[in-house]
Amino acid sequence: MIDEQRQRRRRVILFVSALAMLAACLLSVVVRTGSNLVPNHGQWLPVILFSVLLFLGETQPKLWMRWGDEGEVTPGWAFAFALVLVGAPLGAVIVMALTNAYIDTRHRKGVLKILFNVSQVAVSLSVSVLILNAFGVHEGILGLQELPLSYAIGIVLAGTAMLINNGIQLSIVVCLHMGISPKTLFRRSYALSIAADGALLALAPVFVIAIEYSSLMLPLLAITSFLVYHSARNALRSEHAANHDPLTMLLNRRAFDEQLAKEVDESNPDRQALLLIMDLDRFKDINDRLGHPVGDRLLRSFAERLERILPPPAIASRLGGDEFAVLLPGVQSRPEAIQLVRRWHAALCEPHDLSGFPLSSAVSIGVALAPEHGRSSTALMAAADIAMYRAKQLQSYVEVASTADGVHDVGRVGLLSDLREAIGTDQLFAHYQPLVRLADGTIESVEALIRWRHPVHGDIPPNDFIGMTEHTDLIGPLTEAMFRNSLRDIMSLGDQCPRLCLNVAARNLVDRQFAPMVVSVMRTIGFPPEKLEIEIIERDIVTNSERSMMALTTLRQHGVRVAIDDFGTGYSSFLTLRDLHADRLKIDQQFTSNIMNSSADELIVRKLVEIAHALGLDVVAEGVESYEVWERLAQLGCDVVQGYAIARPMPLAELRAWIATHSPEAAKRPVTPPRLEVLAS
Ligand code: C2E
Ligand code: CA
Ligand code: CA
Repeated sequence: MIDEQRQRRRRVILFVSALAMLAACLLSVVVRTGSNLVPNHGQWLPVILFSVLLFLGETQPKLWMRWGDEGEVTPGWAFAFALVLVGAPLGAVIVMALTNAYIDTRHRKGVLKILFNVSQVAVSLSVSVLILNAFGVHEGILGLQELPLSYAIGIVLAGTAMLINNGIQLSIVVCLHMGISPKTLFRRSYALSIAADGALLALAPVFVIAIEYSSLMLPLLAITSFLVYHSARNALRSEHAANHDPLTMLLNRRAFDEQLAKEVDESNPDRQALLLIMDLDRFKDINDRLGHPVGDRLLRSFAERLERILPPPAIASRLGGDEFAVLLPGVQSRPEAIQLVRRWHAALCEPHDLSGFPLSSAVSIGVALAPEHGRSSTALMAAADIAMYRAKQLQSYVEVASTADGVHDVGRVGLLSDLREAIGTDQLFAHYQPLVRLADGTIESVEALIRWRHPVHGDIPPNDFIGMTEHTDLIGPLTEAMFRNSLRDIMSLGDQCPRLCLNVAARNLVDRQFAPMVVSVMRTIGFPPEKLEIEIIERDIVTNSERSMMALTTLRQHGVRVAIDDFGTGYSSFLTLRDLHADRLKIDQQFTSNIMNSSADELIVRKLVEIAHALGLDVVAEGVESYEVWERLAQLGCDVVQGYAIARPMPLAELRAWIATHSPEAAKRPVTPPRLEVLAS
């Protein structure tokens, strides 16, 4: 990124230098053609008046066009044109250039920006002067009894040229500076400026005629035109604002929805398109810790980068907060699309340079393809939304929608209301995955994993609904149902009954009813508390929450064990270890899966085992998929393994059979290579 910035700056320098040279050449032509360089006697008053108005017009802070943070196309241009028309072209260039240089210096703009503005003034005004000369207007139009047609044409052309020239030069420099496409820039703001500035520029000849009638007319005319200009600009601006997000200048949600609906709607069900929903990771943290101004700048920088990397037909939008969306029409091949998204993802995760300090923020992306994941804009949005949510839950950054995602026309909310109905029915049940001791291959416990068989959409994996459920009150009844069912299931295994591990959400722990509920369910079913273990995901644990700690203490007093799940994925692993007094640590699959290829991962696991053992915890390695890994984990001192190499999660009946036929010896020699489940492919 830094390299890219340097490259962009180099391009800007080159362009501005070329512009400055062009300005010098054009000015010398203007001087050489010698038309009325110093105002005649009668022109002094208008020249002074227009110069003053020009100065005022320019110093008014109309910050609409942006080069970097600000940049301006201001009413001053109309007065500069008026100066040209009264026959003081050089005066126009000098006053305009000086005024611009003054403003830039006052705003501490760099030399480059000053040079650009001065050159821009010189080029635009000179071209207009030369056009006027070509149409015979050498001495201005003051004092004419009648305006010849050729003059009128010359004036219109000169004014138009000035407008276009300004626009082109400014666009080039802004595009080079920001690395965005001219089209994007035009969409952002230029159309607005042209409309408002063009209207004002057209008044320049009227100023000249008015001043000729009486110089007293001029202030009146100036005030009126300022008001016209303001209201025109405000009207255009509010139209722009209705469709754009004021912070990032990207399309807002409403405008984006409209575009998306145009692209994929029911009447056009086979149109191919790629939809992304992106959410910055830990943006709230950044906002809280570094303040909202920094948060805002990060969002702006992210939006600018998005515009830079997206190819032309793509449109981007800020949906709100730290959520963005991108629509790319006409994407045909799925692998190609995914590759594209991965490339964008890498670019979007590069640190942002916020006035010299780099700020990193990863982003999670949900990908949906039309028509595969939805034939309407709502279905497609919902699919991408759920995929994005899954990417966050899995910390996998990029997730492609599954076909089932698209059918939830109302997205997460729809899924949640379906889930509310499902609790207490046989749509929700548990699969059980055995955990075995590394030392001898005997069954150590089983973990209950929730399954949801949706009547319409089929099996929905827990990562697609557990995370969002945790933000609602549904998590209470859901967990209770899991406890009731799986305690009963495992009890039904009779003598063979292994220890049961159940996943518990952070929100369960802050619920005062949670611990009493667990105790009561155990009592009702007659489940021995020492055979129950609750698993809490490390990144969810808040050790300074009094209520959570109380719930855990109550359960522990009853003899229930506590495990820290997905260890290593949170932000305060060691605080958790120190304060939670857990019985077991489950090392996340991220560390174990790559242990054969990464000495860093191996070292981490080795040291985690040492620390856990020293603190009196036993260690489970999750996600063991091969015998090789199993062996290496044994060497590293892990106590228990869980993973596809031993067994996949299975229904109760299969578990019963599995336990009955399980041979510890065979368990130590799992079939290799095991079947690998490719997530979300
Ligand atoms: P978890 O607690 O880390 O559970 C282990 C997950 O890894 C399970 O995914 C399991 O099927 C999968 N897994 C096990 N062995 C392997 C392996 O060798 N390779 C790979 N690639 N994956 C393996 P599952 O069932 O999809 O559950 C996902 C997560 O959903 C769980 O992660 C847990 O955090 C959550 N979850 C599941 N059931 C419940 C529940 O009843 N309550 C709560 N609060 N969360 C649950
Ligand atoms: Ca677990
Ligand atoms: Ca886990």
